Amino acid sequence: MSSTDHTSALRSAGLRVTAPRLATLAAVEAHPHADAETIAQAVREHLGTVSRQAVYDVLNALSDAELLRRVSVGGRSMQYELHRHDNHHHLVCRECGRLEDVPCAIGEAPCLLPHDDHGFEIEVADVVYRGVCSECRARLAATTPRTP
Ligand SMILES: [Zn+2]
Ligand SMILES: [Zn+2]
Ligand SMILES: [Zn+2]
Repeated sequence: MSSTDHTSALRSAGLRVTAPRLATLAAVEAHPHADAETIAQAVREHLGTVSRQAVYDVLNALSDAELLRRVSVGGRSMQYELHRHDNHHHLVCRECGRLEDVPCAIGEAPCLLPHDDHGFEIEVADVVYRGVCSECRARLAATTPRTP
Protein backbone atom coordinates (compact mmCIF):
# COMPACT_ATOMS: atom_id res chain seq x y z
CA MET A 1 0.00 0.00 0.00
CA SER A 2 1.40 3.41 -0.90
CA SER A 3 1.08 6.56 1.18
CA THR A 4 -1.63 7.71 -1.24
CA ASP A 5 -3.66 4.64 -0.22
CA HIS A 6 -3.09 5.46 3.44
CA THR A 7 -4.17 9.03 2.75
CA SER A 8 -7.41 7.93 1.11
CA ALA A 9 -8.00 5.34 3.84
CA LEU A 10 -7.77 8.11 6.47
CA ARG A 11 -10.07 10.34 4.43
CA SER A 12 -12.71 7.69 3.90
CA ALA A 13 -12.63 6.91 7.63
CA GLY A 14 -13.34 10.59 8.23
CA LEU A 15 -9.98 11.18 9.89
CA ARG A 16 -7.74 14.14 9.31
CA VAL A 17 -4.59 13.25 7.37
CA THR A 18 -1.59 13.98 9.59
CA ALA A 19 2.08 13.03 9.37
CA PRO A 20 1.96 10.89 12.57
CA ARG A 21 -1.08 8.99 11.30
CA LEU A 22 0.53 8.34 7.90
CA ALA A 23 3.81 7.31 9.54
CA THR A 24 1.97 4.97 11.92
CA LEU A 25 0.09 3.26 9.08
CA ALA A 26 3.38 2.89 7.16
CA ALA A 27 5.14 1.50 10.24
CA VAL A 28 2.39 -1.06 10.90
CA GLU A 29 2.44 -2.09 7.25
CA ALA A 30 6.23 -2.55 7.40
CA HIS A 31 6.09 -4.42 10.72
CA PRO A 32 2.88 -6.45 10.81
CA HIS A 33 1.94 -7.67 14.31
CA ALA A 34 4.42 -5.28 15.93
CA ASP A 35 3.63 -4.00 19.40
CA ALA A 36 3.05 -0.33 20.20
CA GLU A 37 6.61 0.17 21.41
CA THR A 38 8.12 -1.13 18.15
CA ILE A 39 5.71 0.96 16.09
CA ALA A 40 6.48 4.07 18.16
CA GLN A 41 10.19 3.51 17.54
CA ALA A 42 9.67 3.16 13.78
CA VAL A 43 7.51 6.28 13.66
CA ARG A 44 10.08 8.28 15.62
CA GLU A 45 12.89 7.12 13.36
CA HIS A 46 10.83 8.48 10.52
CA LEU A 47 9.46 11.70 12.02
CA GLY A 48 11.85 12.38 14.88
CA THR A 49 9.74 14.55 17.11
CA VAL A 50 6.66 12.45 17.89
CA SER A 51 6.15 11.47 21.52
CA ARG A 52 5.44 7.89 22.44
CA GLN A 53 2.07 8.92 23.88
CA ALA A 54 1.15 10.60 20.58
CA VAL A 55 1.84 7.35 18.72
CA TYR A 56 -0.22 5.40 21.26
CA ASP A 57 -3.09 7.86 20.76
CA VAL A 58 -2.80 7.46 16.99
CA LEU A 59 -2.85 3.66 17.34
CA ASN A 60 -6.05 3.88 19.36
CA ALA A 61 -7.72 6.31 16.95
CA LEU A 62 -6.79 4.21 13.92
CA SER A 63 -7.94 1.01 15.63
CA ASP A 64 -11.26 2.56 16.64
CA ALA A 65 -11.71 3.66 13.01
CA GLU A 66 -10.93 0.08 11.92
CA LEU A 67 -7.94 1.11 9.85
CA LEU A 68 -5.84 -0.96 12.21
CA ARG A 69 -6.74 -4.19 13.90
CA ARG A 70 -5.64 -4.95 17.43
CA VAL A 71 -4.37 -8.48 17.74
CA SER A 72 -4.39 -9.91 21.23
CA VAL A 73 -3.18 -13.46 21.71
CA GLY A 74 -2.72 -13.16 25.45
CA GLY A 75 0.38 -12.82 27.57
CA ARG A 76 2.31 -10.35 25.49
CA SER A 77 1.41 -6.75 24.71
CA MET A 78 -1.22 -5.78 22.15
CA GLN A 79 -0.06 -6.13 18.56
CA TYR A 80 -1.29 -4.27 15.50
CA GLU A 81 -1.85 -4.95 11.82
CA LEU A 82 -3.56 -3.14 8.96
CA HIS A 83 -7.26 -3.96 9.11
CA ARG A 84 -8.07 -5.91 5.98
CA HIS A 85 -11.62 -6.93 7.00
CA ASP A 86 -10.81 -10.43 5.85
CA ASN A 87 -11.63 -12.32 9.06
CA HIS A 88 -8.26 -14.05 9.16
CA HIS A 89 -7.02 -15.82 12.25
CA HIS A 90 -3.66 -16.29 13.90
CA LEU A 91 -1.18 -19.00 14.68
CA VAL A 92 0.97 -18.33 17.72
CA CYS A 93 4.04 -20.20 18.88
CA ARG A 94 4.00 -20.81 22.62
CA GLU A 95 7.80 -20.99 22.71
CA CYS A 96 8.93 -17.83 20.86
CA GLY A 97 5.69 -15.89 20.38
CA ARG A 98 5.96 -15.96 16.59
CA LEU A 99 2.63 -14.90 15.10
CA GLU A 100 1.41 -15.80 11.63
CA ASP A 101 -1.72 -14.96 9.69
CA VAL A 102 -3.88 -17.81 8.50
CA PRO A 103 -7.04 -17.50 6.45
CA CYS A 104 -10.27 -18.50 8.10
CA ALA A 105 -10.84 -22.21 7.67
CA ILE A 106 -14.58 -21.77 7.26
CA GLY A 107 -15.52 -18.46 5.68
CA GLU A 108 -17.00 -15.16 6.64
CA ALA A 109 -17.39 -13.68 10.10
CA PRO A 110 -18.63 -14.96 12.43
CA CYS A 111 -17.12 -18.22 11.29
CA LEU A 112 -18.08 -20.04 14.48
CA LEU A 113 -21.20 -19.88 16.61
CA PRO A 114 -21.34 -20.84 20.27
CA HIS A 115 -23.79 -23.50 21.39
CA ASP A 116 -25.33 -20.93 23.72
CA ASP A 117 -25.12 -17.29 22.57
CA HIS A 118 -26.82 -15.91 25.72
CA GLY A 119 -28.89 -13.68 23.45
CA PHE A 120 -25.85 -12.00 21.90
CA GLU A 121 -25.74 -11.12 18.25
CA ILE A 122 -22.40 -12.69 17.36
CA GLU A 123 -20.28 -10.52 15.06
CA VAL A 124 -16.93 -12.21 14.98
CA ALA A 125 -15.04 -15.22 16.30
CA ASP A 126 -11.32 -14.68 16.86
CA VAL A 127 -9.56 -17.97 16.60
CA VAL A 128 -6.02 -18.37 17.92
CA TYR A 129 -4.26 -21.58 17.00
CA ARG A 130 -1.56 -22.28 19.57
CA GLY A 131 1.36 -24.58 19.12
CA VAL A 132 5.10 -24.74 18.48
CA CYS A 133 6.61 -23.28 15.29
CA SER A 134 8.93 -25.28 13.05
CA GLU A 135 12.07 -23.45 14.24
CA CYS A 136 11.25 -24.04 17.89
CA ARG A 137 10.42 -27.66 17.15
CA ALA A 138 13.84 -28.09 15.53
CA ARG A 139 15.54 -26.31 18.44
CA LEU A 140 13.67 -28.34 21.03
CA ALA A 141 14.43 -31.60 19.22
CA ALA A 142 18.14 -30.69 19.11
CA THR A 143 18.35 -29.91 22.84
CA THR A 144 16.29 -32.84 24.06
CA PRO A 145 18.73 -35.44 25.39
CA ARG A 146 18.43 -38.70 23.51
CA THR A 147 17.79 -41.81 25.46
CA PRO A 148 20.58 -44.30 24.70
ZN1 LIG B 1 8.60 -20.60 17.90
ZN1 LIG C 1 -2.96 -10.92 11.37
ZN1 LIG D 1 -12.67 -18.57 11.04
